[in-house]
Formats: sequence, structure tokens, C-alpha cells
Amino acid sequence: MTETAETLDPTDWEALRTLARRIIDDAVDYTRDIRDRPVWRDMPPEVRKRFQTAAPQEGQPLGEVYDDIVQNMLPYPMGNIHPRFWMWYMGSSNFTGALGDFLAAILGSNLGGGDHAAAEIDKQVVNWLKEMMGYPAEASGTLVSGGSMANLIGLTVARNRMSGIDLREEGLGGLAAPLRFYASDQVHSCHQTAVETLGLGNRALSRVPSGPDCRMDLGALREAIARDRAGGLAPACVIATAGTVNTGALDDLEAIADLCAEEGLWLHVDGCIGALLAIAPRGRSLVRGIARADSIALDPHKWLHAPFEVGCALVRDAGAHLGSFTLTSEYLQTSARGIASGAWLHDYGLQTSRGFRALKVWMALKEHGVAKFGRLIEQDLAHARYLTARIEATPALQLCFPTSINIVCFRYDPGELPEDALKRLNTEIMLRLQETGVAAVSDTTVKGRHCLRVAINNHRTTRADLDILVEEVSRLGMALKAEAFADQG
Ligand SMILES: *Cc1c(COP(=O)(O)O)cnc(C)c1O
Repeated sequence: MTETAETLDPTDWEALRTLARRIIDDAVDYTRDIRDRPVWRDMPPEVRKRFQTAAPQEGQPLGEVYDDIVQNMLPYPMGNIHPRFWMWYMGSSNFTGALGDFLAAILGSNLGGGDHAAAEIDKQVVNWLKEMMGYPAEASGTLVSGGSMANLIGLTVARNRMSGIDLREEGLGGLAAPLRFYASDQVHSCHQTAVETLGLGNRALSRVPSGPDCRMDLGALREAIARDRAGGLAPACVIATAGTVNTGALDDLEAIADLCAEEGLWLHVDGCIGALLAIAPRGRSLVRGIARADSIALDPHKWLHAPFEVGCALVRDAGAHLGSFTLTSEYLQTSARGIASGAWLHDYGLQTSRGFRALKVWMALKEHGVAKFGRLIEQDLAHARYLTARIEATPALQLCFPTSINIVCFRYDPGELPEDALKRLNTEIMLRLQETGVAAVSDTTVKGRHCLRVAINNHRTTRADLDILVEEVSRLGMALKAEAFADQG
């Protein structure tokens, strides 16, 4: 009887080599020619339908699967690697990072821990990020899926450490008084999810009013803490934001660090947008004091342009970090020698199995160096200043908020239109920019004013791209005004 064992390996390695080379060739062209394509385009219904079929019971040749991707997936991207994509706050990826993800998948390693080179790279990337933040070598950290998870890790350690009890054992029922966290009213929504997930409840996150500059009002913070203490609550942690999603405003980290030291509170910095300003020669001063934080969340898939996903949580007190998550089960014992002799990297967070997301960051940092990433951050800041100046010099455009980093809030405002008509008009401008594939911007409402929001976190953007944006917004605005679009309600 012949052996009938199956495997996922190909029967013809040379045919695989040919196809794999074609895929790499196409990927290089796709990235090189990104400018020649629209930022985004609507998927025709017949294409969408192809993604709604039942699970294939039988296979087909990989070449056919790839053709399907070429025809039906690659033409309909989200668009964030395009030079004129400035929506929300994303990174624009890089080819080296993509190779990193490919090579990581070739090893297929599990970074839950163990003694292997990938684990050394995971730890080295965390160490490099600590260094960039000015954190001491004894601090700890972990790579996670993104900023939301990094913030959850930081807030979990803050909660456990500040509870004053063995919270892991006793749970929230063991608390003498309800814990309170403080953040400005501009705080990212993931912090609400975090306090809800941590069982503290949304009410435990006190939203401190921000001033007209969208930075946390420190007088109001002091008052909120005093009021809570007097009311029998237990102030635990201040979440400072280094770069808010709405406008890029940076809380005063030095002053908040002083206040936390005085009040005996944990300082967590949400640096998903701005922490990496620490590597930018001129931007650095904007995050002065960040190294005084007890924990920092940052996002290499934003200003380091790593392909999604990779975030990082850093905790100054390694004991507090490990103490919040470590657990040694009988099936995950370490040994003195062999594969299980490495550290358990899963001890620093919530995942047991972990992907090798470090490699894409490691390769790009080795190739380009930290200094170049710092310069690219400066370039984005300069782009934002340039766009701001162009808006200010264009009568029908109105800057809605002072630009502090790389986020520009503005709108088309021909005058004499009420607020709701302006909102309709600008929303339509935003949608037409997207639908024509010219540019991608998003919108938000800051202090009651609706505006278009341009987050220039893109190493491919040039000034000419920003000129196109200014011209297109003006042209669309004028055309829509002429057809009395805004009046229609
Ligand atoms: C992006 C962002 C987050 C969430 O990070 P993800 O990587 O999207 O999970 C949190 N806070 C701020 C300020 C952000 O900009």
C-alpha cells in the first residue's frame, strides 16, 4: 500500500517559484505606480458579490486564486498608501515593512515566547521604542495590535497598581472606593472601551474640559480630582493625550507629570499620534516630559508607517507590568535549556499566541535609521504648515482651528451660509473628493464647528498633492454653490 499523506506544500516547487516571483514583481509595480491610480473607487456590485460566496470545498490552482486578487481586490484598496490619502489618522505603509510581514509569515513563528531569534527581534524593537521615548533600559513594554490595545495594557497596569489591593485576586469588589481616571474631553474613544472592559465603567473616566486650544484645562483637572477625593472616590490615573485625533492638540505633559507627582497619580500618555515626535529634531519639544509617564501607548503603524497592525505599550515599572499579566500554567513552563528557555513574551499582555509583528518595524528602522523617520515626521509638520498657509491665502477657505502638528481642520466657506448648509456643502465636497479618487480627507466637529480634517501622516505626500487638494476643494465648493446644492437641505 502506498502512503497517501497530504501536505500543504506544492507538488511542483518550480511552478511555485515562478508564481511567487510574479507576485513580487507585481507588488513592486503596484507600489511604484500608486500615483497613477485613484486614491479609492467604489466597488461594482458584481465584484462585491464575488466576496459573498460560500466556503470553497475543493481547491483550485494558486495562480487562479491570485488572478482573482489581481482582478477583484487590488483595484479597490482603502487607499492609505496613496500620496493623497489623509483620512482619520493612518500610516501609509512601506514596501520593506511588507517584505517583513512576508518573511515573518515564512517563519510562521509564535512570539508568545521561547528562545529563538524572532523573540530577540521582538524584544529589540521594544527596546528601540523605549530608547526613542527616552525611557530607562529597565522599563518594559510589549508589541500589540495597535494603539487601542496598547492603551488597554497601560490602563490595566495603572488600575491594578493604583487599586492598593491584589486586584487580580480580589477583583473590583475588593476596592475600598471606586477608582477614577481623568482625560480631556478630546480623548480617543478607545479609553472609554478600556474602562468599560476593565469593569470600571464609563463613569470612571472623568472627561476634563479642554480649553479653546483643545488641550486639557489643568485647573479643571485639579478641581475634578479634589471634588472626587472629597466625594469619597479614589483618583488613580491621568491620561494625557500627545496629539488628539480631532486637531492634534498636545496636552502639557510636563505640567501634568508635575500634577501627577503631587497628587500621587499614575500618568498614562496616549501617544498614538504624537509620541514619535520625540524622534523629530524640532517636533521633540512638543512632547517634552513624555519620559516621565508611568506608561505610554504608541503606534508604529502610524508615524513609522509600518503596515497594519503594530502598536506598543511601554511601562516604566517593569514589575508592575509583569505583575499585571504573568501567569505560568503547567503547560507553559520554562526550562533551563532548549526552545522553552526564553522569556514568555505573552506575560506582558493579553494574548497567548503572538504574531511576529516586530520584523516589519525592525527591517524598516535598520534600512532607514531613526533619524530619517524623524525627518519624515518634520516633513509632515512642514506639509501641514504649508497647507495651512494656502488655506489662509484662499478667501473661500477658512481654517477652523490653529494647526499644531500634522492635522489641518478647515472648510469651504463662501460666506452667508448658515451652519447646517455649510456642513452639507463640506460633506458633499468630502464625498466627491473620495468618489472621484482625487483625494481622501475626513471630517469632524470641533467645538461645535463642522470641518474637513486633513491628517498628513504620509511619507509620499508632496506639496503638489496639497495644491491639488486646495484647488479641488475650491473648485467643488464653487460648483456646488452655483448649483445651490447647500440650499436643498
Ligand atoms: C489611533 C489612535 C488610537 C487607537 O489606535 P489604533 O492603533 O487605531 O488601535 C488611540 N488614541 C489615539 C490618540 C489615536 O490617534
